Amino acid sequence: MKSAIVAINEDPRIDAYREALRAMRQGRYLHELDTGRPDALGALGEEIKALADHLDWHLTHAGKLHEIADNVVGGLLLDDVLDRIFESFQSVIPYNRIGCAMLSEDGRTVRSCWVRADFDDIRLGNGFSARTEGSSLAQIIATGQPRIINDLEKYLADHPASHATRLMVAEGIRSSLTCPLVSKGRPIGFLFFSSIEPCAYESAHQGIFLRIAAQMSALIEKGRLYQQIVELNQRLTVEQAELQQLATRDALTGVLNRRGILDQLDAAFARARRARGRLALILIDVDHFKAVNDHHGHAVGDAVLQEIAHRIDRDLRQYNHLGRLGGEEFLVVLSDEDSVHADAIAERLRERVATRPVVSGDSDIRVTISAGVVQAVDPGAAGNFETLIAVADKALYDAKNEGRNRVSLRVVGERAN
Ligand code: GH3
Ligand code: MG
Ligand code: MG
Repeated sequence: MKSAIVAINEDPRIDAYREALRAMRQGRYLHELDTGRPDALGALGEEIKALADHLDWHLTHAGKLHEIADNVVGGLLLDDVLDRIFESFQSVIPYNRIGCAMLSEDGRTVRSCWVRADFDDIRLGNGFSARTEGSSLAQIIATGQPRIINDLEKYLADHPASHATRLMVAEGIRSSLTCPLVSKGRPIGFLFFSSIEPCAYESAHQGIFLRIAAQMSALIEKGRLYQQIVELNQRLTVEQAELQQLATRDALTGVLNRRGILDQLDAAFARARRARGRLALILIDVDHFKAVNDHHGHAVGDAVLQEIAHRIDRDLRQYNHLGRLGGEEFLVVLSDEDSVHADAIAERLRERVATRPVVSGDSDIRVTISAGVVQAVDPGAAGNFETLIAVADKALYDAKNEGRNRVSLRVVGERAN
């Protein structure tokens, strides 16, 4: 008995094992360990080697999973989160392609929402959707376990109705690892790792994914919610712009309404004052419009107003503004450049209306307009824009008094040289 103890103490493997265990404590895993004869000490040595392999594998993967989580957590929108997953998982799971599909709110359908591959010919793309019930995905939801298919061609032969598998095989995919995404205990979708190599996946990959599955699911869910908020916000912005547009448009003629044209005038006035530019307004009133209503009825009167607005609008350059101030009265705000020719522009508009009758049903309705033009050479000296409208109104009054169907001009704020 005593001699056996001495023999073990003197066995050189004892020192080697001690050294291997000490190294492990320091975080080094010696995979080369001479275990010698297959006796009891030899078996102990094999156990030490297995322990070193096991710890090494787990610690290495723990570190990599940590890195992956750190990287993915930086993504805000769903696409960004998934891009980060694609860029980080390579070190722990092999793949040429990753796809993500989400379950509908009621869980009845699953819809592909993202795919990325290291090849171009993607056939199973975004928007592909299928019913969950009766599909092989239902089983993955039920078990909560990732599923490996290592021979997709054979799987397709056994399941010829699987359109998704057919498309993947056509892309060149041969193995797949399908991982369920579960957030707060609720299945939300799937992450599909796929490889062009057959037999690319083993149970270790399932285990690796499961260790980080909860975190990835939560990040994907967060990305999806964030993306929904961003999209909702964009939609609201568009709707708000449409409402804004509606709020400034005249329903009958489609040109700016009173508020819209006065806003434009306000802005143009401020601009002209700042830049010491010019500003001109054309105030237009339809002549004897009451008679049109009286003879042809209010509906025809409306059509005439539409046509007049249309003719004026078509004739103006785009940086001039036309609005309906109310009733049969319109206001044109001219840009700095066109202000010099304000009376000529007004004269052209008058002609556009007067030369051709408005056709309504069987009637040719002859209408004319009168225009009061105010040209502000130095708008700063004119006080405010209401003053300009008041002057334009006086000019319009002159045009009416002088017999209608004409243009009258007034100039304000003559610049002192
Ligand atoms: P003047 O040459 O002096 O401007 O004569 P007028 O008949 O045009 O002037 P008055 O102000 O007496 O009449 C304006 C008419 O415009 C009265 C009103 O019923 C009509 N009117 C105002 N708004 C509308 C509208 O939206 N549709 C129709 N059909 N008529 C309108
Ligand atoms: Mg009027
Ligand atoms: Mg009138």
